[in-house]
Amino acid sequence: SELPADPDLTNEIRQVKDTLFSYVNPTKPSIPELIHASEETAEMVGITKDEIHTKEFLDVFSGNEILANTRPFAMCYAGHQFGNWAGQLGDGRAINLTEVENKNNEFFMLQLKGAGKTPYSRTADGLAVLRSSIREYLCAEAMHYLGVPTTRSLSLILSGDQVLRDILYNGNPAYEKGAIVCRVAPSFIRFGSFEMLTARNELKNLKNFVEFTIKHYFPEIKGEPKEQYLQFFKTVTDRTRDMILHWQRVGFVHGVMNTDNMSIHGITIDYGPYGWLENYDPDWTPNTTDSQNRRYRYGNQPQVAQWNLFQLANAIYPLINEAAPLENILESFMIDFEEDYKAMFLSKLGIFTSSEADDKIIKGLEEILQLSETDMTIFFRNLSKIKKTDTVDSAIKKIEYAFYLPEQIKDQTLDAWQKWFSVYLKRLNSETLSDEERALKMNAVNPKYVLRNYMSQLAIDAADLKDYSVVDELFQLLKKPYDEQPESEKWFAKRPDWARTKVGCSM
Ligand code: AMP
Ligand code: MG
Ligand code: MG
Repeated sequence: SELPADPDLTNEIRQVKDTLFSYVNPTKPSIPELIHASEETAEMVGITKDEIHTKEFLDVFSGNEILANTRPFAMCYAGHQFGNWAGQLGDGRAINLTEVENKNNEFFMLQLKGAGKTPYSRTADGLAVLRSSIREYLCAEAMHYLGVPTTRSLSLILSGDQVLRDILYNGNPAYEKGAIVCRVAPSFIRFGSFEMLTARNELKNLKNFVEFTIKHYFPEIKGEPKEQYLQFFKTVTDRTRDMILHWQRVGFVHGVMNTDNMSIHGITIDYGPYGWLENYDPDWTPNTTDSQNRRYRYGNQPQVAQWNLFQLANAIYPLINEAAPLENILESFMIDFEEDYKAMFLSKLGIFTSSEADDKIIKGLEEILQLSETDMTIFFRNLSKIKKTDTVDSAIKKIEYAFYLPEQIKDQTLDAWQKWFSVYLKRLNSETLSDEERALKMNAVNPKYVLRNYMSQLAIDAADLKDYSVVDELFQLLKKPYDEQPESEKWFAKRPDWARTKVGCSM
């Protein structure tokens, strides 16, 4: 009620001025059917296991019924997409149902994705297909269990409606099953929420909104107004840096780091054409629409995050009217990131003391990983098996399962690997931890299981035939990504050949 709302209560598509959100009800689905729910997310928001399997749960989280005393709404925001100003975007297929408070006095927004048109749908249908919904549902939970800040998934529900996508097979329109995901976050406020108000020169609203955001989501921030705004920017910067560091650690590539997809909470939002590095390649992006510039490639994520923070700084600048303090925070982003990145990378290598040789060990490995198509996840995981007493050759044996082209290694990069391992083994021998202690610490930062594209694809293919067992299997597997799960060893595998050119999908 402190924020200006849209007085027009229709969900007709339009430019919405002088407001931050529009009330809008979800579209009723034809035959909703629960595919999966996260019991942990349910518990977090105060829903019991038994309640998940009620008609009320299905009705509320498919958009069939509105909870009593709530008023669903879609948010208005703008953003920079692929480096260009895109103007008003807004929740085109997301509807916030309500905010809930759990028993620990934590607040969460429950949001449906794919529940129909809003005033911000522009030319699109407000819907989501089963394929992309499975990808979002599974990945958000997987990220959470990897320790990466993220939105959570509550439920995955079939709508029973067919959704038309502009993929034409043989000239025929392609229909796909529609689905609705309920996702959960402290809020869905984005960098682009602030950019929109500033671009329209709605400075009074901007001030209200920044103050609302600080009061509700960053209550620890106190002091003079200007000081608070800067503190807010610093907090968002720090949290964003932490999130990106985790992405780099686990090999996650978001794929669409537009400013409208950047949460002020520093949590990963909007799982579209994301992907996981398989062979370690900093130039890789899963987003086919970005294959020319590769703006959102793995190795560029820190730079893009800083660029996006710069847009947020520009957006709140009119409240501060002083560039230097904002610039200082922006500069500190990369300085701090580089320091954190080094410590993170060394922890993946099991190096916990510091030595002058460390930069060379990191750079050397990054280079050689690229020269010899090597699976990132498998390489780092198996590295913890190496013992101080290993020889160069016995060490290489322990990681060779990570090589996609073992023959090529023999011909081309074996020398380089031998050199690197000889330095690495010396380095390990100067570490104070025992092999066992080191392995434990390494296995806590190097996941054994991540949601590779081919894995989602298998879950999608089965789900298309109404078999949801793979969705559940992956969901359970990815709850313990750092544990050995001998019965699931088949998922500790390189991308199969058939998936070599498979990329993510966004629609
Ligand atoms: P994204 O790249 O997924 O973050 O989407 C960019 C913008 O397009 C956001 O404002 C979305 O709400 C909107 N959008 C994406 N897909 C749809 C859709 N099927 N219907 C309506 N709006 C959409
Ligand atoms: Mg988005
Ligand atoms: Mg999206």
